[in-house]
Amino acid sequence: MALRDPAEAAREQLAASRQRALEQAQQHRNEVYSQQPQLYQIDREIARRGMEIASSAMASDAQEQIERLQQEITGLQQEKLHILAQLGLPENYLEPPFSCPICQDTGFARGHRCQCWQKLYRRQAGKNLPGGGQIYQFDNFQLDYYPQSDDKGGNPRRTMEHILMKCMEYAEMVGRGEDPGSLLFCGKTGLGKTHLALAIAGRVAERGLLAAYTSAQSAVDHYERTRFNRSPSREDWDFLSAVEKADLLVIDDLGSEFNTAFTQSVLYNIINDRMMNGAATIITTNLEPAKLTSQYEQRIASRILCGYTSLVFAGRDIRMMKRMEGK
Ligand SMILES: [Zn+2]
Repeated sequence: MALRDPAEAAREQLAASRQRALEQAQQHRNEVYSQQPQLYQIDREIARRGMEIASSAMASDAQEQIERLQQEITGLQQEKLHILAQLGLPENYLEPPFSCPICQDTGFARGHRCQCWQKLYRRQAGKNLPGGGQIYQFDNFQLDYYPQSDDKGGNPRRTMEHILMKCMEYAEMVGRGEDPGSLLFCGKTGLGKTHLALAIAGRVAERGLLAAYTSAQSAVDHYERTRFNRSPSREDWDFLSAVEKADLLVIDDLGSEFNTAFTQSVLYNIINDRMMNGAATIITTNLEPAKLTSQYEQRIASRILCGYTSLVFAGRDIRMMKRMEGK
């Protein structure tokens, strides 16, 4: 699972795009200047007047001078367009083709993050999630798979309506400055825990925040490779950074990982560090609370059971039902 820092990815993407645009403009200039040296002279004249404008700002007749220089520049530009047209070239042929004309692919416009940067950031943040932040959403979480009564006199559908509401609220609370707390999704396999955890993560990413997803086992694997220097990859380091920086971290299927002392210490550190930082974490597990206590060191079990809000999923195995319906 790729867990690139979206800010870094957006920065790199824009820088590469700006570089390409500048190189292409340079290439076009070289080509056209050798064909039509007059254009080179015109560009030099334009540049010289641009500098004169900057330096004449302090002169007593500044306004007059600037107006004259601007008129000259306009004249030169027209001459240039005329020559380009004669060569059969489009008028922007010598301009860098930036992907964003507003910020010229710098990511900043008038001292603020440009909209294009926000867009790239969100796209990357969503890409980090299984399904690209698109497949598992609140909208396609189907409540009608949950029965309205069970043999214990409960109403799974009502329970799940309540959980769905909670999850939607939570997705809006993450990253607002206050500690939103952390969630524990418990319940048997196939009750939609991963779906809702990813729907929250998708919404958090859509809001332009950093959401990261991992299974409990792959979290441990990332740490193992970096800790014991088993040729850690970029993804391993990105994961470690995401644990530190992500506004939301989903740890899926706690209890399915290979249980060792190392595993326990990794999980404890992730859970504890994020709790100390007031960072939102969602853990999903098939284990019942009593099992959590017996399978994990007391310090882990107590962090989760006392520090997290538990949501107990109800119903029948939806994956099984979908399979039987041929979906
Ligand atoms: Zn831009």
